[in-house]
Amino acid sequence: MPRKISIFGSTGSIGTNTLDLIRRDKQAYDVVALSGAGNIVLLAEQAIEFSAQIAVTAYDDRLEDLKAALQGSGIEAASGANAIAEAAARPVNWGMSAIVGAAGLKASMALARHGGVLALANKESMVCAGELLSAECARFGTDLLPVDSEHSALFQAMNGENRNTLKRLILTATGGPFKDFTLEQMQGVTPEQAVKHPKWNMGQRISIDSASMFNKSLEVIEAKYLFLCEPSQIEVVVHPQAIVHSMVEYVDHTIIAHMGSPDMRGAIGYALHWPNRAPNPIEPLDFAKLGDLSFSSPDEAKFPALRLAHETLTMGGYAGAVFNAAKEAALDGFIARKIGFLDMAALVEKTMYSAQIEPIRERSQTSLSEVFEADTAARKFVNDRI
Ligand code: NDP
Ligand code: MG
Repeated sequence: MPRKISIFGSTGSIGTNTLDLIRRDKQAYDVVALSGAGNIVLLAEQAIEFSAQIAVTAYDDRLEDLKAALQGSGIEAASGANAIAEAAARPVNWGMSAIVGAAGLKASMALARHGGVLALANKESMVCAGELLSAECARFGTDLLPVDSEHSALFQAMNGENRNTLKRLILTATGGPFKDFTLEQMQGVTPEQAVKHPKWNMGQRISIDSASMFNKSLEVIEAKYLFLCEPSQIEVVVHPQAIVHSMVEYVDHTIIAHMGSPDMRGAIGYALHWPNRAPNPIEPLDFAKLGDLSFSSPDEAKFPALRLAHETLTMGGYAGAVFNAAKEAALDGFIARKIGFLDMAALVEKTMYSAQIEPIRERSQTSLSEVFEADTAARKFVNDRI
């Protein structure tokens, strides 16, 4: 029997990489739903190629274009955030959550209810609602598999280990394009400079987040909720070659590192075939050609996002939702050239500590509607200041 699968964010970097793997063994999969936003041509092409049941665009004003592109195919077309959530509620054995931003949260929650595998690329779901999403997976017996390369690496380095003997999680970071810039140089950088990631080929927003290290800060929060460890057990180390994807230290000081080429199809393929392993089209590592691997501490004065992530973890409750939404709004401001690169972290910090936001973020995580309330309040706070 082919496995029923859905991919939310199928037109993005993770989505297209996922379909690249599926394409190599098409008869093994039965594609239920695909979703995108603005890239209607690609979404329709994918839906037709993989004979999906339904294709959904996030944008209502693009529905007619989608319908036209799917005409005669028999594939359903739908639009809007609710239609994405409804499509994610269609039963599958394996669901990929790869929409960018908090906009992916509803799809993640719906995919958590099928009792199969939730392959989670959308780290924002964990950052905003880690406790709620984990509880939903547990309630429905869904296996939550991280797709973020660092977390896939950590997950794999914990295979067969007793989690009580875990001492430290060491997340690697390339340091991004501004690793060797001074603060003065960083103030003036443009979105075009920030998007050029030295090692990983990713979507625009996560690439800029990597340059500011906000991506790593989201990953620190994601790690806490995925692996249920103390914030003090999570460290970040700069490793520009991006060969070691992360490491786990145990109480005996043994460190298990996960290595591979920087290609997201490694982590996606692992989640696709878990608990087995299957051949993958990524470049094998050749140690003789690799040369040196280097490691250093991140510069928190230049990258305050890392400190803010640990402070967010200490706050708990809806602090993650506030942190993420403030970051998303500040990133919008930077992409629109309304604020400078370093203003992003300053605005996020201001939001986290504002008296206006404090009562919202301090509540304990109980409902998705409160997550969205915290998200809306934080975005408004940042936008008012931009
Ligand atoms: P992309 O920007 O490449 O793709 C984002 C996807 O989401 C596209 O399908 C896009 O549609 C869709 N989308 C955009 N806005 C909305 C919206 N408001 N509602 C619904 N769908 C929307 O992102 P990535 O693939 O890089 O990242 C996806 C997720 O995976 C993110 O959470 C990211 O942090 C995470 N991730 C990505 C990695 C990578 O290597 N790219 C690595 C680790 C994690 P369209 O293109 O049609 O507009
Ligand atoms: Mg990552």
